Amino acid sequence: MMLSRIEYNERIADGVYVMGLDAGEIAPSARPGQFVHVLVDRDKYLLRRPFSICDVDGGTIKIMYRVKGVGTELMSRAMRGESMDIMGPLGKGFNEVRGRVAIVGGGIGLAPLVYLARRIKSGTMFIGFNDEPFGLDFISNPGLDIRVATTNGTTGYRGNVVDLFEDTLSSERYDYMYACGPKPMIKEIKRVCKEHEIPGEASFEERMGCALGACMVCSIPVKDGDKFKYKRICKDGPVFNIDEVIFGGVA
Ligand SMILES: Cc1cc2nc3c(=O)[nH]c(=O)nc-3n(C[C@H](O)[C@H](O)[C@H](O)COP(=O)(O)OP(=O)(O)OC[C@H]3O[C@@H](n4cnc5c(N)ncnc54)[C@H](O)[C@@H]3O)c2cc1C
Repeated sequence: MMLSRIEYNERIADGVYVMGLDAGEIAPSARPGQFVHVLVDRDKYLLRRPFSICDVDGGTIKIMYRVKGVGTELMSRAMRGESMDIMGPLGKGFNEVRGRVAIVGGGIGLAPLVYLARRIKSGTMFIGFNDEPFGLDFISNPGLDIRVATTNGTTGYRGNVVDLFEDTLSSERYDYMYACGPKPMIKEIKRVCKEHEIPGEASFEERMGCALGACMVCSIPVKDGDKFKYKRICKDGPVFNIDEVIFGGVA
């Protein structure tokens, strides 16, 4: 746990912000897919809020967040020079693999994929938005082809990003896939990857308590042979093999 200084906190789209935090101790060891747990106001709120490490630049970590409720609303009003109490880097990040990869992200699901994208040698990044794209200028990797889908068709492919990914697979082949986005989207990606025999992993979200593996609040069901067991998003994830996660409950 450390107090970090806010270096910038900028609005980049409607309700979406990027915050740079001077996180000298956390930045050097942070891996793509890991997250920080942020205490937004120690007097008002007991629970921390988890945010993916969007990128690392020297001793600065960047987080990209969408204003959702009270915590993120407060964060959006924080000013440069103020301090934030953060814990991290937490969780298991993305595995780095060889070969040609596809990265598939939806909306704010782009956040953990930016840092990952910088490490990729070759492949395609498929990013979907409802309307105006954001954060694409954070991705700087000449080895990566970036394709955008928007639901309203204002930029790139008209439709959802999973359809764009699936259409592309009729002519292109990938050795591995990484994803982050809403659960229904990841479920669809799992189907597509299964049909095309592409192994992969995805970053998952669940309400979280301690983020240290003790409270079990963020547990999700995963396959265990022909049975199932629970794994904790905070400690065993947030990145899981896409094939092991059970969608839609186990009851
Ligand atoms: C591993 C992980 C990484 C994440 N990375 C990002 C990111 O990079 N950018 C981003 O915008 N969002 C991210 N989220 C979601 C983000 O944590 C929530 O949007 C945020 O906690 C909402 O806080 P709030 O106080 O504004 O909302 P409120 O709804 O007021 O929050 C109430 C409580 O519910 C929890 N909560 C609400 N929604 C979520 C959620 N989706 N996931 C986990 N806890 C939630 C809050 O932490 C808080 O304790 C991530 C979640 C996880 C689990």
